[in-house]
Amino acid sequence: MKRKFLGIDIGGTNLRGKIISEEGNPLGERKTLSEAHMGISRLMENLAGFIEGFAGEEISAIGIGIPGTVDRRNGTLVQAPNIANTKDFPFTEVLLDRIGTNTPVFVENDASCAALGEHRAGAGRGSNSMVMITLGTGFGGGIILDGKLWSGEDGFAGEAGHMAIDPSGPLCACGGRGCVETYVSQVAIKRIVREHAELREKFAGTEESAIPERLAELAREKDRAAISVWNDFGTNLGVGISILVNVLDVKTVVVGGGLSGAWELFIGKTLEEAERRCLGGAARGLKIKRAVLGDDSGVLGACYVAKKGLGESS
Ligand SMILES: [Zn+2]
Repeated sequence: MKRKFLGIDIGGTNLRGKIISEEGNPLGERKTLSEAHMGISRLMENLAGFIEGFAGEEISAIGIGIPGTVDRRNGTLVQAPNIANTKDFPFTEVLLDRIGTNTPVFVENDASCAALGEHRAGAGRGSNSMVMITLGTGFGGGIILDGKLWSGEDGFAGEAGHMAIDPSGPLCACGGRGCVETYVSQVAIKRIVREHAELREKFAGTEESAIPERLAELAREKDRAAISVWNDFGTNLGVGISILVNVLDVKTVVVGGGLSGAWELFIGKTLEEAERRCLGGAARGLKIKRAVLGDDSGVLGACYVAKKGLGESS
């Protein structure tokens, strides 16, 4: 019998599940609310129920993308800043207890899943090595080396958002200062707008969550202050990319996540800065591409995590 793999992406709002065939063809998908903001117990309850909904599908393995630091060898969720009460939480053990199944479960960081998805089926297709940067609430990273996801010795690889680009810069959620995430993320944009005398007034009454989108609109309407914020954003992204490229010598960098919707507002500065900073050999043939799978990259990547977990070279 042909095998089927279930991938699940745990988001702040939704749980998304997708099934793929051995050949990678989509066989269906579903979603439900994650209620992750209500804490890990509620999330696990919802996740178990969601997986049970696929019971009739004869799944060979399950891959789960989690927004946090994951020790994939023992299935522990080491930390997840956006899910309350998670510190060294035995994720896989608790889940298997609840769903009472023998189906193998493999966990991975969500940004690594997105990288795997774009590499296998999106903008990174055909590249041997690549880095994916996910510009969402934070600055996520995923690394593919020699065609394989590089999760690191303990599964923590790809935390690209915490490369410090100014040791005396703004305080980051990680406790450090001046991480690239404090300049290039939704959190960063909101901080910059709050601290900007001219923009602060223009955003009075704008909902916090709507700030990045509104800033993009303003820049498209040729507001000079807004354009300058996106220019700096692009330059700082270029700095981050050049560090990754100089260290890893990857030739493809894929940029995705919600903020990549403002692509034309920042990519010029990003290319300029990356070109300036990437050393000769590393810069040769470098491609910086926009992700093409949107929200699908993470859930599709989770399917590939399931397939990879069973020892396949997916
Ligand atoms: Zn940091």
